Amino acid sequence: MVLASGMRTLQGIYAMLQLRPNCECCARDLPPESPHAMICSFECTFCLDCAEGVLKGRCPNCGGELVARPRRPPDRLVPNIRSSRDVIVRTEHWPEAVRFYGHVLGFTVSSRAEAMVGFETGAFRLYVEAGPAHAPVFDFLAADVAATKAHLISAGCTLVEEDPNLPRCYLRDPFGVVFNVGRAPGSTG
Ligand SMILES: [Zn+2]
Ligand SMILES: [Zn+2]
Repeated sequence: MVLASGMRTLQGIYAMLQLRPNCECCARDLPPESPHAMICSFECTFCLDCAEGVLKGRCPNCGGELVARPRRPPDRLVPNIRSSRDVIVRTEHWPEAVRFYGHVLGFTVSSRAEAMVGFETGAFRLYVEAGPAHAPVFDFLAADVAATKAHLISAGCTLVEEDPNLPRCYLRDPFGVVFNVGRAPGSTG
């Protein structure tokens, strides 16, 4: 994947070893504490069985050797949070706001629900929701919303509102900015 390898390069420069959650070959779970994770220098990730068996110790993507991935101590785990393209505003003057974004700014409607209309604006999607007004909220996604919420609250965020059924929650960071944390597509947490 072109995008993923671009991100990988940036992360290699600026951040830490990527701990991918699954074996690329058999999809088996490989959590950060797993002693069975094997990686190549590009962090392609396989389970020990696949690495030693079908792959014979070589990464099928780059041809490099596969070595044991170091385990990350549980107290040093950082959730993998990424933004979506969604920005949400909420207003009690909803029909007027929908008309405003659709007609005055000329954005195309991309989705329509009972109390929310989504507009395609270009780089991000704007969701205009009916309800008690709040300023624009941008959207972060994580595999495990509850764990990410706990992590952020322990780091000084406060809970603004939440819907555990979706799940999603609005958190205010220690500097006053409110953002949503929702569930990343494809995750079950
Ligand atoms: Zn495997
Ligand atoms: Zn590789």
